[in-house]
Amino acid sequence: MMRIIDGHCDALYKMFENPVIDFYDSVAVGLDVSYAKMKKSNVKIQFFAIYLPERITVPKFDHYLEYINIFYQKITCDGRVRLIKNRDDLHTVWNSESIGAILTVEGADAIQGNPLFTRTLHHLGVRFIGVTWNYGNWAADGILEPRQGGFSRHGKSFIKDCDDLGILLDASHLSVAAFWDLAAASARPFVATHSNAKALCGHPRNLDDNQLRELIRRDGRIGVTFVPWFVDGGQASIDGILRHIDYIGALGGERQLVLGSDFDGISRTIPGLEHAGQYGNLVDALSKRYSNVQVERFLYGNWYSYLERHLPVH
Ligand SMILES: [Zn+2]
Repeated sequence: MMRIIDGHCDALYKMFENPVIDFYDSVAVGLDVSYAKMKKSNVKIQFFAIYLPERITVPKFDHYLEYINIFYQKITCDGRVRLIKNRDDLHTVWNSESIGAILTVEGADAIQGNPLFTRTLHHLGVRFIGVTWNYGNWAADGILEPRQGGFSRHGKSFIKDCDDLGILLDASHLSVAAFWDLAAASARPFVATHSNAKALCGHPRNLDDNQLRELIRRDGRIGVTFVPWFVDGGQASIDGILRHIDYIGALGGERQLVLGSDFDGISRTIPGLEHAGQYGNLVDALSKRYSNVQVERFLYGNWYSYLERHLPVH
């Protein structure tokens, strides 16, 4: 079975909310992304997002530390899953039996414009940051923020800090203005880890053609996501996901298309693609429509080449 790289999940959020959940339990009740499910589907690299729940009205750096503690204590505790911080780690994991994990932040709210916090997150292994969730913060506006502004002055210097440190930026959830501010301010090819094509499904979380073309032009990555509301407004199917892949491919994005499931971040799922143990159904559907080389690109090759090019060397 082909390898899979998935660019977004919220398993850490579920483990933060419910400390009883055991990632390594063979059943791992409550988790879409568990060790057993990843093994079943040959998920080789999984991005794990630090997403603070909305009930935390004053996000603090301590909250990030609590998540990072869960990650190290409960996921990368014994070598079965290993944190990927650089290209050396990427190669080591790829040639081993271990699963690789990439640590990401979704919502930079608790960084509060403090470069020491950004640097400390980098030290602890964070390699991707989505600057906002749906609403605005000190750095930028999210896609559901009524003001629909772009990046603040502090937010723009945060982009530079991330570029300099080697933290890659994620445009999923950004307002349209913030997306274009990021495009103008960042020297690196950024990504959208979990967003689909707005032309096929008009949800605000999806990307319009100009945004998709910009990500393609810069050789960033576009993570096709399994959130039913972003696939076709609710009655989603695996075929619906394929329509987004077809569409983005037709725009010229065959080398930029990647997966960003949003497993554990969604209350409804697509039939046959309800958790990380069910990628086989997606692989079967893709294989009917695309060549082996193309399917490999979508499932892992495009993510791998991006990581290989943009993670720090050591
Ligand atoms: Zn999200």
